[in-house]
Amino acid sequence: MIICDSHVHSKFSFDGECSAEMLCSCAVEKGISSITITDHCEVECLHTSETEYGDMRKNIPLSFEASKQAAGEFAGKLDVYTGVEMGQPLSNPELREEILSKGQIDFVLASLHSLDETEDFYYLKYTEDNVKTYLERYFSQLLDISLWDGFDSLAHLTYPIRYMYAQLEKMPDLKPYGEVIDEIFRNLVKNKKALEINVGGCRSAVKAPQPDFDLVKRFRQAGGKYLTFGSDAHNTQALGAYFEKAREIAVKAGFDCYYVYKNHQPVPIML
Ligand SMILES: [Zn+2]
Ligand SMILES: [Zn+2]
Repeated sequence: MIICDSHVHSKFSFDGECSAEMLCSCAVEKGISSITITDHCEVECLHTSETEYGDMRKNIPLSFEASKQAAGEFAGKLDVYTGVEMGQPLSNPELREEILSKGQIDFVLASLHSLDETEDFYYLKYTEDNVKTYLERYFSQLLDISLWDGFDSLAHLTYPIRYMYAQLEKMPDLKPYGEVIDEIFRNLVKNKKALEINVGGCRSAVKAPQPDFDLVKRFRQAGGKYLTFGSDAHNTQALGAYFEKAREIAVKAGFDCYYVYKNHQPVPIML
Protein backbone atom coordinates (compact mmCIF):
# COMPACT_ATOMS: atom_id res chain seq x y z
CA MET A 1 0.00 0.00 0.00
CA ILE A 2 1.00 3.64 -0.40
CA ILE A 3 2.15 4.83 3.03
CA CYS A 4 1.60 8.44 4.02
CA ASP A 5 2.45 8.67 7.69
CA SER A 6 0.76 11.75 9.12
CA HIS A 7 1.86 11.50 12.75
CA VAL A 8 5.61 11.42 13.38
CA HIS A 9 7.69 12.87 16.23
CA SER A 10 11.24 14.15 15.86
CA LYS A 11 13.79 15.15 18.50
CA PHE A 12 11.88 18.41 18.96
CA SER A 13 9.32 16.41 20.93
CA PHE A 14 10.43 15.72 24.51
CA ASP A 15 10.00 11.99 23.88
CA GLY A 16 11.25 11.91 20.27
CA GLU A 17 14.57 10.31 19.40
CA CYS A 18 15.51 11.28 15.83
CA SER A 19 16.30 14.27 13.72
CA ALA A 20 14.01 15.03 10.79
CA GLU A 21 16.82 13.96 8.50
CA MET A 22 17.15 10.54 10.15
CA LEU A 23 13.40 10.01 9.97
CA CYS A 24 13.38 10.94 6.29
CA SER A 25 16.31 8.67 5.40
CA CYS A 26 14.58 5.79 7.14
CA ALA A 27 11.27 6.59 5.41
CA VAL A 28 13.00 6.44 2.01
CA GLU A 29 14.56 3.07 2.93
CA LYS A 30 11.14 1.74 3.94
CA GLY A 31 9.53 2.92 0.69
CA ILE A 32 7.22 5.36 2.49
CA SER A 33 5.65 8.02 0.23
CA SER A 34 5.31 10.87 2.71
CA ILE A 35 5.76 11.77 6.34
CA THR A 36 4.29 14.67 8.28
CA ILE A 37 6.35 15.75 11.27
CA THR A 38 3.96 16.53 14.11
CA ASP A 39 5.94 17.43 17.22
CA HIS A 40 4.24 17.85 20.57
CA CYS A 41 2.83 21.21 21.51
CA GLU A 42 1.14 20.77 24.89
CA VAL A 43 -0.63 24.09 24.88
CA GLU A 44 -1.20 24.50 28.64
CA CYS A 45 2.57 24.23 29.22
CA LEU A 46 3.56 26.85 26.66
CA HIS A 47 3.79 29.67 29.16
CA THR A 48 6.76 28.04 30.89
CA SER A 49 9.92 26.26 29.82
CA GLU A 50 10.10 24.50 33.19
CA THR A 51 8.16 21.36 32.29
CA GLU A 52 9.15 17.89 31.14
CA TYR A 53 8.00 18.92 27.66
CA GLY A 54 10.90 21.35 27.32
CA ASP A 55 10.68 24.80 25.86
CA MET A 56 8.07 24.32 23.15
CA ARG A 57 8.06 27.99 22.22
CA LYS A 58 11.59 27.39 21.04
CA ASN A 59 11.27 23.78 19.85
CA ILE A 60 8.11 23.99 17.73
CA PRO A 61 9.45 26.71 15.41
CA LEU A 62 12.67 24.65 15.15
CA SER A 63 10.59 21.61 14.22
CA PHE A 64 8.81 23.61 11.50
CA GLU A 65 12.16 24.74 10.16
CA ALA A 66 13.65 21.23 10.22
CA SER A 67 10.63 19.83 8.29
CA LYS A 68 10.95 22.51 5.63
CA GLN A 69 14.65 21.87 5.29
CA ALA A 70 14.10 18.09 5.03
CA ALA A 71 11.37 18.68 2.43
CA GLY A 72 13.93 20.42 0.21
CA GLU A 73 16.66 17.89 0.87
CA PHE A 74 14.48 14.85 0.11
CA ALA A 75 12.50 16.35 -2.78
CA GLY A 76 11.78 13.72 -5.44
CA LYS A 77 12.38 10.87 -2.97
CA LEU A 78 9.94 11.61 -0.17
CA ASP A 79 7.26 14.21 0.47
CA VAL A 80 7.83 15.85 3.84
CA TYR A 81 5.05 17.92 5.37
CA THR A 82 5.13 20.33 8.26
CA GLY A 83 2.71 19.59 11.07
CA VAL A 84 2.14 19.87 14.78
CA GLU A 85 0.30 17.82 17.41
CA MET A 86 -1.64 20.33 19.49
CA GLY A 87 -2.34 18.81 22.88
CA GLN A 88 -5.18 20.39 24.91
CA PRO A 89 -5.62 23.06 22.21
CA LEU A 90 -8.40 24.92 24.04
CA SER A 91 -6.37 25.46 27.20
CA ASN A 92 -4.73 28.66 26.00
CA PRO A 93 -5.98 29.99 22.65
CA GLU A 94 -3.66 32.97 22.63
CA LEU A 95 -0.45 30.96 23.02
CA ARG A 96 -1.76 28.30 20.64
CA GLU A 97 -2.27 30.89 17.90
CA GLU A 98 1.12 32.41 18.59
CA ILE A 99 2.79 29.03 17.95
CA LEU A 100 0.65 28.32 14.88
CA SER A 101 1.79 31.62 13.39
CA LYS A 102 5.45 30.58 13.57
CA GLY A 103 5.50 28.61 10.33
CA GLN A 104 3.68 27.69 7.16
CA ILE A 105 1.99 24.53 8.42
CA ASP A 106 0.43 21.75 6.32
CA PHE A 107 -1.33 19.81 9.03
CA VAL A 108 -2.60 20.21 12.60
CA LEU A 109 -3.51 17.24 14.78
CA ALA A 110 -5.79 17.93 17.74
CA SER A 111 -5.09 15.78 20.79
CA LEU A 112 -6.21 15.37 24.35
CA HIS A 113 -3.47 13.81 26.48
CA SER A 114 -4.55 15.18 29.84
CA LEU A 115 -7.55 16.71 31.59
CA ASP A 116 -7.50 20.08 33.33
CA GLU A 117 -5.11 20.00 36.26
CA THR A 118 -4.17 16.34 35.84
CA GLU A 119 -1.14 14.69 34.30
CA ASP A 120 -1.06 12.85 30.99
CA PHE A 121 -3.27 9.73 31.04
CA TYR A 122 -0.01 7.81 30.79
CA TYR A 123 0.86 8.70 34.40
CA LEU A 124 -2.50 8.20 36.13
CA LYS A 125 -3.41 5.29 38.39
CA TYR A 126 -6.66 3.62 37.43
CA THR A 127 -9.34 1.80 39.35
CA GLU A 128 -12.60 0.25 38.10
CA ASP A 129 -14.41 3.33 39.44
CA ASN A 130 -12.21 6.22 38.41
CA VAL A 131 -11.96 5.11 34.76
CA LYS A 132 -15.62 6.06 34.36
CA THR A 133 -15.04 9.58 35.63
CA TYR A 134 -11.90 9.98 33.56
CA LEU A 135 -13.56 8.73 30.38
CA GLU A 136 -16.61 10.90 30.90
CA ARG A 137 -14.36 13.97 31.24
CA TYR A 138 -12.17 12.85 28.34
CA PHE A 139 -15.04 12.53 25.86
CA SER A 140 -16.72 15.68 27.09
CA GLN A 141 -13.53 17.75 26.58
CA LEU A 142 -12.96 16.09 23.23
CA LEU A 143 -16.44 17.19 22.23
CA ASP A 144 -15.40 20.80 22.88
CA ILE A 145 -12.21 20.26 20.86
CA SER A 146 -14.22 18.81 17.96
CA LEU A 147 -15.91 22.23 17.65
CA TRP A 148 -12.60 24.08 17.28
CA ASP A 149 -11.97 25.08 13.69
CA GLY A 150 -8.16 25.17 13.81
CA PHE A 151 -7.23 21.53 13.28
CA ASP A 152 -7.23 19.07 10.38
CA SER A 153 -7.49 15.66 12.06
CA LEU A 154 -8.55 14.40 15.49
CA ALA A 155 -5.72 12.26 16.89
CA HIS A 156 -5.95 8.90 18.62
CA LEU A 157 -9.59 8.93 19.77
CA THR A 158 -9.79 6.67 22.90
CA TYR A 159 -6.17 7.48 23.84
CA PRO A 160 -6.68 6.86 27.64
CA ILE A 161 -7.84 3.27 27.19
CA ARG A 162 -4.35 2.09 26.20
CA TYR A 163 -3.15 2.88 29.74
CA MET A 164 -6.37 1.82 31.47
CA TYR A 165 -6.22 -1.54 29.73
CA ALA A 166 -2.54 -1.99 30.56
CA GLN A 167 -3.18 -1.44 34.28
CA LEU A 168 -6.56 -3.09 34.80
CA GLU A 169 -6.10 -5.84 32.16
CA LYS A 170 -9.65 -5.21 31.14
CA MET A 171 -11.03 -3.11 28.30
CA PRO A 172 -13.16 -0.24 29.65
CA ASP A 173 -16.75 -0.30 28.44
CA LEU A 174 -17.23 2.54 25.94
CA LYS A 175 -20.99 2.04 25.53
CA PRO A 176 -21.95 4.81 27.98
CA TYR A 177 -20.10 7.30 25.76
CA GLY A 178 -21.69 6.23 22.48
CA GLU A 179 -23.85 9.31 22.22
CA VAL A 180 -21.09 11.82 22.88
CA ILE A 181 -18.78 9.98 20.47
CA ASP A 182 -21.46 10.20 17.77
CA GLU A 183 -21.78 13.91 18.47
CA ILE A 184 -18.00 14.30 18.08
CA PHE A 185 -18.26 12.48 14.74
CA ARG A 186 -21.12 14.71 13.60
CA ASN A 187 -19.00 17.78 14.40
CA LEU A 188 -16.04 16.39 12.44
CA VAL A 189 -18.33 15.71 9.46
CA LYS A 190 -20.00 19.12 9.63
CA ASN A 191 -16.64 20.93 9.84
CA LYS A 192 -14.98 18.68 7.20
CA LYS A 193 -12.37 17.40 9.65
CA ALA A 194 -10.57 14.08 9.53
CA LEU A 195 -10.43 11.27 12.03
CA GLU A 196 -7.02 9.73 12.61
CA ILE A 197 -6.46 5.98 12.78
CA ASN A 198 -3.46 5.86 15.10
CA VAL A 199 -1.55 2.61 14.78
CA GLY A 200 0.55 3.53 17.82
CA GLY A 201 -2.11 1.53 19.68
CA CYS A 202 -0.66 -1.61 18.03
CA ARG A 203 2.52 -1.07 20.04
CA SER A 204 0.58 -0.58 23.30
CA ALA A 205 -1.26 -3.07 25.53
CA VAL A 206 -4.36 -2.61 23.37
CA LYS A 207 -2.46 -4.16 20.42
CA ALA A 208 -4.82 -2.56 17.89
CA PRO A 209 -5.21 0.74 16.09
CA GLN A 210 -7.11 3.50 17.86
CA PRO A 211 -9.97 4.11 17.39
CA ASP A 212 -11.05 0.53 16.66
CA PHE A 213 -13.14 -0.79 13.79
CA ASP A 214 -16.51 -0.20 15.50
CA LEU A 215 -15.78 3.49 15.99
CA VAL A 216 -14.32 3.99 12.51
CA LYS A 217 -17.48 2.39 11.12
CA ARG A 218 -19.63 4.74 13.20
CA PHE A 219 -17.66 7.68 11.84
CA ARG A 220 -18.41 6.40 8.34
CA GLN A 221 -22.09 5.98 9.18
CA ALA A 222 -22.16 9.55 10.50
CA GLY A 223 -21.03 10.66 7.01
CA GLY A 224 -17.29 10.72 7.74
CA LYS A 225 -15.16 11.12 4.66
CA TYR A 226 -11.66 12.05 5.75
CA LEU A 227 -9.31 9.63 7.49
CA THR A 228 -5.60 10.13 8.20
CA PHE A 229 -3.22 7.35 9.25
CA GLY A 230 -0.45 7.93 11.77
CA SER A 231 2.22 5.72 13.31
CA ASP A 232 2.83 8.15 16.19
CA ALA A 233 6.47 7.11 15.75
CA HIS A 234 9.02 8.51 18.18
CA ASN A 235 11.84 6.52 16.54
CA THR A 236 12.67 5.00 13.16
CA GLN A 237 11.47 1.46 13.98
CA ALA A 238 7.85 2.58 14.41
CA LEU A 239 7.80 4.76 11.30
CA GLY A 240 5.17 3.54 8.82
CA ALA A 241 4.69 0.28 10.75
CA TYR A 242 1.29 -1.44 11.12
CA PHE A 243 -0.29 0.57 8.31
CA GLU A 244 -1.89 -2.61 6.93
CA LYS A 245 -3.92 -2.78 10.17
CA ALA A 246 -5.26 0.73 9.59
CA ARG A 247 -6.01 -0.14 5.98
CA GLU A 248 -7.95 -3.30 6.97
CA ILE A 249 -10.14 -1.32 9.36
CA ALA A 250 -10.76 1.50 6.90
CA VAL A 251 -11.67 -0.80 4.00
CA LYS A 252 -13.95 -2.94 6.19
CA ALA A 253 -15.67 0.23 7.40
CA GLY A 254 -16.39 1.25 3.79
CA PHE A 255 -13.62 3.76 2.99
CA ASP A 256 -11.82 3.54 -0.35
CA CYS A 257 -9.12 6.08 0.43
CA TYR A 258 -7.39 7.93 3.22
CA TYR A 259 -5.84 11.39 3.09
CA VAL A 260 -2.62 13.29 3.51
CA TYR A 261 -2.73 17.05 4.13
CA LYS A 262 -0.81 19.59 2.13
CA ASN A 263 -1.34 23.21 3.16
CA HIS A 264 -4.42 22.02 5.10
CA GLN A 265 -5.93 20.52 1.92
CA PRO A 266 -6.80 16.80 1.96
CA VAL A 267 -5.16 14.80 -0.85
CA PRO A 268 -6.68 11.32 -1.35
CA ILE A 269 -4.54 8.16 -1.23
CA MET A 270 -6.27 5.07 -2.60
CA LEU A 271 -6.47 2.10 -0.27
ZN1 LIG B 1 -0.66 12.13 21.11
ZN1 LIG C 1 1.89 11.84 18.94
